[in-house]
Amino acid sequence: MVWVTRVGLALVVIITVFAAYLFTAVRSLEVEKLSDDLHVLFGMGGNVAVLNTADGTVIVDTMTFEMQGDRIKEVAMELTGKPVIAVINSHYHLDHTHGNPAFDPGVRVVSTERTLHHLKQLDSEHFADAPHTMPNETFSGVHRLVFGDKHLQLVSPGLGHTDGDLVVVFEEEGVIHMGDLLFNGHYPNIDLEAGGSVKAWPATLERTLQLTFDRVIPGHGPVTDRAGIRQFQRFMAQLGQIGQASVDNSMSLEETLKTDLLTEDAGYEEIKMVVPIGLDRPFVITRAWEEANGKITPRK
Ligand SMILES: [Zn+2]
Repeated sequence: MVWVTRVGLALVVIITVFAAYLFTAVRSLEVEKLSDDLHVLFGMGGNVAVLNTADGTVIVDTMTFEMQGDRIKEVAMELTGKPVIAVINSHYHLDHTHGNPAFDPGVRVVSTERTLHHLKQLDSEHFADAPHTMPNETFSGVHRLVFGDKHLQLVSPGLGHTDGDLVVVFEEEGVIHMGDLLFNGHYPNIDLEAGGSVKAWPATLERTLQLTFDRVIPGHGPVTDRAGIRQFQRFMAQLGQIGQASVDNSMSLEETLKTDLLTEDAGYEEIKMVVPIGLDRPFVITRAWEEANGKITPRK
């Protein structure tokens, strides 16, 4: 009996410590200043941009948990002194949208039409208690927003990570937020089920490079510049070539996974959400093979 109690107590302690660790990890945000009016928040999930405008605060993406949405609101208020009036969602994935329900009624929530479509199809339950935080202003192609003295250009440059990603140009700051069209130093998720494409991704990046900017906020990884996009573009092009070669030479997935043609991933690390989440070298080669061979094994 005493033994059982001790084991039980040890378990309670372990679970409590782990829960406390998780709580801290989820709530902690690192802040980087890009200009007087633009900051980036790094945390568990996609990178968040916080823009101060005369009208109020505008943010891009909301990370993974509603609790993080609350924290983003607090930090945004500390940085700008103004409440969040608009949330832009770069795409539908939960590590960029699940903080949305923390935001107040009346908030503008902007995304592409495809992103709203995917959210409705795949994730509407998460927004059941806060339907006002589903996108309520959608577009395809290009969409311009003006907040006081700040001009934003939202561009949907084409297929890549999904079929509905947008890029935000902060014109006065010379900065773009690329969402998950750019993973900087990490293996990307390639959501073929939601219209993503290895083949199309390099051309989509080329269209993004036509925009006017100097610095780049990626969906994951540190802030970079045009050279960072070029590097990732070479990586995606190699993946496309590997997929094509597997078709040309009738190669199985197993054979394709042994490729030595992928070199641009030198130094890439797997993304972790406390633990690695399966975005690694075999994953990206598998996706390239699946798309090229028309044999997609659906993933959740
Ligand atoms: Zn994503």
